[in-house]
Amino acid sequence: MKNPILKRGVHYLTSDYKTRNENRKAHNGMDFVGSVKQDSIIAIEEGTVNYVGFDKGGGGNWISIKTNGFEHRYFHLANNTTKVKVGDLVKKGDVIATMGETGNATGYNVHFAVYKNGYIDPLPFLMNDDPFEIHSCAVEDDDFTTFVKSLQALIGVDVDGIPGPITLSKTITISRTTNNRHPLVKVIQTYLKSLGYDLGSYGLDGVFGPDMEKIIKNYQKNVVGLTGNLVDGIITAQKYTWKSLLKLS
Ligand SMILES: [Zn+2]
Repeated sequence: MKNPILKRGVHYLTSDYKTRNENRKAHNGMDFVGSVKQDSIIAIEEGTVNYVGFDKGGGGNWISIKTNGFEHRYFHLANNTTKVKVGDLVKKGDVIATMGETGNATGYNVHFAVYKNGYIDPLPFLMNDDPFEIHSCAVEDDDFTTFVKSLQALIGVDVDGIPGPITLSKTITISRTTNNRHPLVKVIQTYLKSLGYDLGSYGLDGVFGPDMEKIIKNYQKNVVGLTGNLVDGIITAQKYTWKSLLKLS
């Protein structure tokens, strides 16, 4: 990234601008996790702080910094970590707060948005002249490592891309009836697609429907080696299917 938002410079994009599936409302910014659970958030450009507060609509603690008429907004900041106040001039790279999960956040992440008479695509502000670099930054790992890192970010453990007992212990049950629209569904769909599974007519929709249940049953039969009642199409917390997905079996 030309204009990093995290101090360690490692950014994994977990949710893109307006790309959430058609069943959920548009996403007005971009979500990032870093190489550690709670990296420091830095100002992407020089500017003047024009708002510090709490968003009851789900954004949690947030800061706005005005640069050339655009407001750069940083959300879900950890409690009591804000290092700036309204009127402060901040330089590019100054630490402004610590990544948190305040408001309606699915695990530790920073939601970055750009506002000028409404929310606009923040990508050009992060990239300047190279709008594709961020995607190579987000997927520089192989598919398995990307899968593990996305999972770890969502369940709130250290994001190292290496699954172990701690990662497994925080897995949750996902099925047609349980957590069927949890952000992890899309993470699993993305990984299954990279393994060559045909996701069916709805594709990468982030919804655990009948197609996904069929795929999981096939996976349980053919990859995990389950039989009988254990082929249930349910990714049960900490059990066989999760172990297999994490290559821990
Ligand atoms: Zn977000």
